[in-house]
Amino acid sequence: PSVQHKGSDIPRYVRVNTLKTTVEDVIDYLKREGYSYHGTDLCSVSGKVFMRDLHFRDILVFSAKMDFHDHFLYKAGHIILQDKASCLPAYLLDPPVGGHVIDACAAPGNKTSHLAAIMKNKGKLFAFDLDAKRLSTMSTLLLRAGVTCHRLANEDFLKVDPLSPAYKDVKHILLDPSCSGSGMVCLHDGSSEEQEQEPERLKALATFQLRCLNHALKFPKLQRLVYSTCSIHPQENEEVVSLCLEKNPDFRLIHLLPEWPERGQDPLTECLRASTTKTFTHGFFVAMLVRQATPNTESS
Ligand code: SAM
Repeated sequence: PSVQHKGSDIPRYVRVNTLKTTVEDVIDYLKREGYSYHGTDLCSVSGKVFMRDLHFRDILVFSAKMDFHDHFLYKAGHIILQDKASCLPAYLLDPPVGGHVIDACAAPGNKTSHLAAIMKNKGKLFAFDLDAKRLSTMSTLLLRAGVTCHRLANEDFLKVDPLSPAYKDVKHILLDPSCSGSGMVCLHDGSSEEQEQEPERLKALATFQLRCLNHALKFPKLQRLVYSTCSIHPQENEEVVSLCLEKNPDFRLIHLLPEWPERGQDPLTECLRASTTKTFTHGFFVAMLVRQATPNTESS
């Protein structure tokens, strides 16, 4: 793995919650509070200077020291404090307004609220998580964010029946399963113990991730799936995706965002990676799988 920056080197990203406000209104509000807005001109953000992200129009970029946890816009759910890399999955999945979508491992729900914003709160957003405590945090977050199209379930995604009538119209799935978190730079003290990331633990995580991915591809109407982790380990990323594709020849990878500066490791260059050094974010991985042919409905 490449050299890890400290979390304090990464800018602070803010996603504007378009269910509650607009980017323009947030910019105006902050300007009235004495912040200085630099559009998308490349500038070094410091103090109260901020800019718009170059890739995503709903993301604003601030200096690393900025903390919005006590800010009105955050408490009112107008802004979501979410790293830019972790905004990739929902942006790329891009579910349609009114669609039926599954967020398989959803808590605490930042990606769920992002999906809901893209869906304009219309349709059905089924969100699962095993951890009841994380789900209760998620409920609070979704309420604050004004999300209403979701159905939360404290369920093991691996036990959700893909053939249940409830999911017959699900065409989009976001799968962001538990991972080693090795891309989350602020959580790391760089100790050799952490660097090693015990091989057994990684193996167990990769097995779980592959099971989730194979399971997700069983939903009969699925057209598009985004798989993401905040891990920098190929075992949890490219290797999981390669093994899944071997088993599921109906699906193929989509070449994501040609303008993005960091690709998945060879030969999975269709996928994206993110890092402190190349994308100025936490370490992250994203793959998008699509079904090659329309499902055979003749037998049903
Ligand atoms: N997508 C979330 C977000 O953006 O806020 C973060 C998800 S976190 C990386 C992984 C989540 O998967 C955890 O909340 C964990 O409780 C949940 N999880 C682990 N095993 C699961 C399973 N078998 N079924 C459903 N959720 C599971």
